[in-house]
Amino acid sequence: MNAPTDRLAPPSSARALQALDSAHFLHPFTDHQALAAKGARVITHAEGIWIWDADGHRILDGMSGLWCVNAGYGRRELADAAHRQMLTLPFYNTFFQTTTEPPVRLAARLSELAPPVDGRRFTHVFFTSSGSEANDTNVRLVRRYWDLMGQPQRKVIISRWNAYHGSTVAAASLGGMRAMHEQGDLPIPGIEHIQQPYYWDLRESGETPEAFGVRAARWLEEKILEIGPEKVAAFIAEPVQGAGGVIIPPATYWPEIQRIVDRYGILLISDEVICAFGRLGHWFAYEKFGIKPDLVTFAKAVTSGYVPLGGVLVNERVAQVLCAGGEFTHGYTYSGHPVACAVALANLELMEREALPQRVREDTAPYLAQRFAALADHPLVGVAETCGMVAGLILVRDKATLGRFPEEWAVGMTCRAHCFDTGVVMRAVGDRMIIAPPLIMTRADIDTMIDLIWRALDATLADLQ
Ligand code: PLP
Repeated sequence: MNAPTDRLAPPSSARALQALDSAHFLHPFTDHQALAAKGARVITHAEGIWIWDADGHRILDGMSGLWCVNAGYGRRELADAAHRQMLTLPFYNTFFQTTTEPPVRLAARLSELAPPVDGRRFTHVFFTSSGSEANDTNVRLVRRYWDLMGQPQRKVIISRWNAYHGSTVAAASLGGMRAMHEQGDLPIPGIEHIQQPYYWDLRESGETPEAFGVRAARWLEEKILEIGPEKVAAFIAEPVQGAGGVIIPPATYWPEIQRIVDRYGILLISDEVICAFGRLGHWFAYEKFGIKPDLVTFAKAVTSGYVPLGGVLVNERVAQVLCAGGEFTHGYTYSGHPVACAVALANLELMEREALPQRVREDTAPYLAQRFAALADHPLVGVAETCGMVAGLILVRDKATLGRFPEEWAVGMTCRAHCFDTGVVMRAVGDRMIIAPPLIMTRADIDTMIDLIWRALDATLADLQ
């Protein structure tokens, strides 16, 4: 018997879609009772820096989807690259001594784009379909490296509280999100956390950001000594914490971290799932901070989010050992997926042609810094800070002391709702409101975005009075 056609037909309206959504779709990071009460916001299409919802509202996407649509929406050449590759070779695996052209070319291209550290190149790339899988890979890869180096006792990976490294069991363990740990009996053994370099919450009275940066980095040294340096395999960190609320470390933090990892000979993993591909004005963020990672996690904007792809750039220090060490028993069906890699190649070409990293570094990021900083004049805003094309502000009750609102007031979520209604996407992380807009933004787009944010702040303030 044929299925009734109405079951296959698309829902006729946004309301019908919301009902189906609520009945069948288990969403990531979502309270489903709240979702059922309101119905999901249905996004229908997008162009440039704008998205549209099913009610016809045009909204400026201040979050680039989920930190990924760096090249903006509607880039036909990315769709064409996928289409061409699907017709030529939609899939073949890269296991067991087989390869296909797109991942080979992409690995070589990424290796060219990543600046060498201490004269050592990032010669190799391991591909995954997401940032989480890439960080899982890091756990396997780091432990394999130390086994091959004859130091199998080096197992512990140190990370930071409030870091986000993904949602698989290992990636959520690496991350420092306590709510995720509580629900999953995490972290898995062999992962330790230190405090994050969040100046505004953790500074001591009278402490400068510079002094705090050094003190925060030394928490790593203290942890290494507590565990025993001979047991520590690696330190993983985002150059700027993204999902934790755009936590921008003081300038003194990363140099001190580098001194410490060098001193104890542990591997450094720079998780650049958000920070790479122009977001901070460079192809890779380690360049901006002058750090020398051994492994670099990437995902998201490598394809501008058009198709899923992630991976790990492996410095030759590690790659030589792995490649000489026999089989690394790890891989995913879609490691080096030809369509994803073809889209990534087209995306990198587009970014290069439009000089997006350079444009961010020399024009739009300095302009955003100036315009975003002015939001601190709003009565609700305590601190407003940027780094490249990410930015965060703190909603405060008392500007002079940075006194906060009670957590249960959920002012961040109120402000987020006003942002949507006003026509701009901002994300709320507690009382931090954050953005990571598409890199194709012009100065005029930034002006529009700041005006919309100001209006949403006004509406939030009106609610609180
Ligand atoms: N690492 C960082 C720094 C991230 O921000 C994210 C996702 O936001 C991940 C890893 C996980 O990536 P994915 O969601 O693609 O698994």
